[in-house]
Amino acid sequence: MINIPSLIQAQRNFFAKGATKSLSFRKEQLLRLKALLEENTQAIIEALKTDLNKPADQVMLAEISPLIHEIDYMLENLDRLAAPKDVESPETLSFFGMGEYHSQIIYEPYGVTLNISPWNYPIQLSISPIIGAIAAGNTVVLKPSEFTAATSALLNRLVAQYFVPEFFVVIEGDVAVNQALLAEKFDYIFFTGSVPVGRIVMAAASKHLTPVTLELGGKSPFIVDKSANLEQAAESLIFGKTFNSGQTCIAPDYLLVQQDVKAEFVAILKQKLQQKFDDNPFENYAKVVSERHYLRIKSFLNDGKIVAGGLFNDETHQMLMTVLDGVTWESPVMQDEIFGSVLPMLTFNGFDEAIERILAQPKPLALYCFTETEENATAVLSQVSFGGGAVNSCFLHFFNHNLPFGGVGDSGMGSYHGDRSFYELSHEKAVVTRKIV
Ligand code: NAD
Repeated sequence: MINIPSLIQAQRNFFAKGATKSLSFRKEQLLRLKALLEENTQAIIEALKTDLNKPADQVMLAEISPLIHEIDYMLENLDRLAAPKDVESPETLSFFGMGEYHSQIIYEPYGVTLNISPWNYPIQLSISPIIGAIAAGNTVVLKPSEFTAATSALLNRLVAQYFVPEFFVVIEGDVAVNQALLAEKFDYIFFTGSVPVGRIVMAAASKHLTPVTLELGGKSPFIVDKSANLEQAAESLIFGKTFNSGQTCIAPDYLLVQQDVKAEFVAILKQKLQQKFDDNPFENYAKVVSERHYLRIKSFLNDGKIVAGGLFNDETHQMLMTVLDGVTWESPVMQDEIFGSVLPMLTFNGFDEAIERILAQPKPLALYCFTETEENATAVLSQVSFGGGAVNSCFLHFFNHNLPFGGVGDSGMGSYHGDRSFYELSHEKAVVTRKIV
């Protein structure tokens, strides 16, 4: 096994020398990261095909393009972000002594950072937090998921080719390797994964008082009320639930549809699913990452009556989006995040009832609401706490770098993307300088 303590010590020494401090160094590393992605796009597509049967267009849309965009954004904005920020000095400071006061926030890197990433977007979620870490001047240890072995091995090989290990290194391995890593002291831990493992990471971090970002999951509702544009709602729902076979942290987990339009909405969903996945439904459809997960998701089909979809392939571990009716809030499928193509459908009468139901659940990572009733949109946005979401669309909040991306409560803590990525991985040092007069 790799000598983890000595790798971390090498990064500590590199950081202590101040090697990562200059903005020119950081920009150079960001450019290398961009080159790694651009020069190896085909290899990435192939690895993701092996691991997840991920269609190439999905790789471009959700794994590679957002990273290139983020790197470009960071390169354009790094000077502004890293510059000390002057803030007002209130009059009250003069009570502590006469003088002129200058107050500022100085952004400093934490030091040696650890990024633990999941398997569902193994390139995007491995690299995206690292863009912030590099921009802020940290060194990076990346531990990708063992479930997407081809992609993790590729990342390991490429990172070794483009970076020196005392600055950026990949460590592959299973849970035992994670445990060995988490026993070490890091200066920051960025974790993306499930709620139970998030708890383990936070407990380990607390031993060293290491700050953490936890990007977790949860059951994200997709609400459709009777005023909604049902065609648009159905298209967005199918997009969100079939993209990567529903293995997306912000995928709609369950449907909450107003009773009055339930039958019509199901008919539209059924027709659109048939249209979209007519001839060869599984050709461009991601597979479930492992047999264990496949069987877990398939077992949910017993929890209700299939009203749309229902196709699966036990050999390739693929399952088409499947809508389940007759599900209750107590059904097994409603207990934990599904993370797959099964869509339980629940109904509500008054809009208040929908809100009450969601409020009784842990705070979700995402929420989507399709409505043409402004009152309902305002009610859900003001009364329900969730990480992020959208009204009359699905996923789009993720793609706007001006919006912080992250969870709340059980769906996580901290956020990133755009400027937030830089701030999340920086310590804000508060300094008052007094000029004695
Ligand atoms: P996971 O929690 O099982 O694994 C994530 C990482 O933790 C992997 O690298 C894995 O090796 C490691 N790990 C697993 N068990 C561990 C243990 N006992 N101790 C220490 N480390 C351990 O998650 P996953 O199955 O890879 O990903 C799916 C989950 O991630 C879903 O819950 C999903 O919602 C969530 N997710 C969240 C986001 C987000 O941005 N919020 C994005 C993608 C996925």
